[in-house]
Amino acid sequence: TTIENDLRDAIRTIPDYPKPGIMFRDITTLLGNARAFRRTVDELVQPWAGSKVDKVAGIEARGFILGGAVAHQVSAGFVPIRKKGKLPHTTVRVAYSLEYGIDEMEMHEDAVTKGERVVLVDDLIATGGTAEGAVKLLKQMGADIVAACFIVDLPELGGAEKIRKLGVPVRTLVSFD
Ligand code: 5GP
Repeated sequence: TTIENDLRDAIRTIPDYPKPGIMFRDITTLLGNARAFRRTVDELVQPWAGSKVDKVAGIEARGFILGGAVAHQVSAGFVPIRKKGKLPHTTVRVAYSLEYGIDEMEMHEDAVTKGERVVLVDDLIATGGTAEGAVKLLKQMGADIVAACFIVDLPELGGAEKIRKLGVPVRTLVSFD
């Protein structure tokens, strides 16, 4: 579609970052483009326009930028999902798999209450390990996960499929092979 092409053109690709062989999809150029940023937020939330969303949960760090804008757009609160040790109040924590090894992410225990409708947001889904961890955390808190939204999908890595298999609808705007 034309919107997908416009957004793709607004994303910069950095070869061999952070290590040789990786094509890093740099969304800072999209965020810096007023028109592309607005269209991204509008498009991401389009399926849930008019339905009630209580909270938008954003994954550190690019999911904070996008999630804040999305939360404003749907008149929801914003909740940060952070790497361990960064949140000051009591947290719930989950281990998640990275390309090499595992890490832990957490949320404040009172950030979401049981039955709240939550949209999860991050900039990109690759293997889906990060998003899977966030889904586990939100489910532990009793959230009703409305959807998981990402600007970029790397479909060959299977992350979006993995999240759909958990029963969570996935929305992405641009795919890169
Ligand atoms: P996954 O856990 O799905 O394998 O990796 C997704 C996470 O890694 C996201 O939090 C995302 O921000 C980050 N990530 C991995 N590769 C890229 C990339 O090429 N570009 C950007 N912007 N983020 C990436």
